[in-house]
Amino acid sequence: MGLVVQKFGGSSVGDIDKIKNVAYRVIEESNQGHQVVVVVSAMGDLTDELIALARQTGPNQSEREMDMLLTTGEQQSAALLAMTLNNMGCAAVSLTGWQGGVATEQVHSKARITDIKPDRIEKELTQNKIVIIAGFQGLSPNGEITTLGRGGSDTTAVALSAVLKADICDIYTDVEGVYTADPRLVPDAKKLEFVSYDEMLELASLGAGVLQPRAVEFAMQHNVRIQVRSSFKMEPGTLVVEGGKMESNRIVTGVAHDLNVAKLALFDVPDQPGIASTIFQALAEASINVDMIVQADMRDGRNDIAFTVCKDDLHLALPVVERVAKDIGASGTSCGQDLAKISIVGAGMTSNPGVAATMFAILADENINIHMISTSEIKVSCVIDAPLINAAINAIHKRFNL
Ligand code: ASP
Ligand code: MG
Repeated sequence: MGLVVQKFGGSSVGDIDKIKNVAYRVIEESNQGHQVVVVVSAMGDLTDELIALARQTGPNQSEREMDMLLTTGEQQSAALLAMTLNNMGCAAVSLTGWQGGVATEQVHSKARITDIKPDRIEKELTQNKIVIIAGFQGLSPNGEITTLGRGGSDTTAVALSAVLKADICDIYTDVEGVYTADPRLVPDAKKLEFVSYDEMLELASLGAGVLQPRAVEFAMQHNVRIQVRSSFKMEPGTLVVEGGKMESNRIVTGVAHDLNVAKLALFDVPDQPGIASTIFQALAEASINVDMIVQADMRDGRNDIAFTVCKDDLHLALPVVERVAKDIGASGTSCGQDLAKISIVGAGMTSNPGVAATMFAILADENINIHMISTSEIKVSCVIDAPLINAAINAIHKRFNL
């Protein structure tokens, strides 16, 4: 007998009919003789709705109260799934994150899991119950309720899988797996049978959206087998595995895109030690994540520095950049918003030269201008104008034969 962790996202538990469907999937797994631990997200867009509700209380919401509020979402779906299973004659119990022993650091809205003490979960399992855990939540050392960042139920599921030594962590969602590109933009995108941890981490971070990047990181560190699959279809989904176990060495595995991109630039900054550190330290202090950074070649002791941030963070980044520009004597700043990032990802890139050049050529053939470029061993990303994203992604998907 094995142990399986099943995670169901918001779209899979969006209403009672869907919760009943989830209950069937849980029973089916249990009927195969496995112990089953289920992690659920909040129903549908409930988390967004709760955030909108909170905003109506006035200009400020403390992060502590926000976490108190948002964690109710996952508790609703956990309890409703337990009731549904019980009504179907199946013994099940729902637990909050803290009842399930999920400990986090003392940070609100994006806490990391520090430890899981699964005693209660194990006790319920030995009593032959299905154990349902509210995802996305934990308890800090100060006894405060915390959340794990948007999409954090994935991380709950992966962390539990590691601690409970689950045979597999099945992530159920409204798509059939990980695709070579977003099927909404590329009609002939294909479902991948396998993807490596490294590729999945890049794809998740570059906007593919099927898994929280931190969950992939956790899975990679603790060797948790993940499968991304559909709640509504029976077919197997995409397995996330170690690179070496891959069937073939594809050069490019998938194309990801991200429309949540803004670009900031500082012009004519002095070319001397400490300038980059001043700029990016100030941004870090304001908790702003910087993505791509480009520094132009020096001319007359001056150069330009441009970088990207999430569009959501632009209103925070802009005043910081303007202040720093003044402090360091830059001649000016600029900001661009109607941008998108398109990325190709593939473990096979490491050993195949010319992949970046091919991507640039494809964009050139489509007459698409590249604003910024960044690369890692297994990815190439370009920032382009947002309205051209559809043309870019389809051309790249086709020319790399995905
Ligand atoms: N309900 C939370 C969110 O929408 C957590 C999750 O879905 O994983 O971000
Ligand atoms: Mg969600």
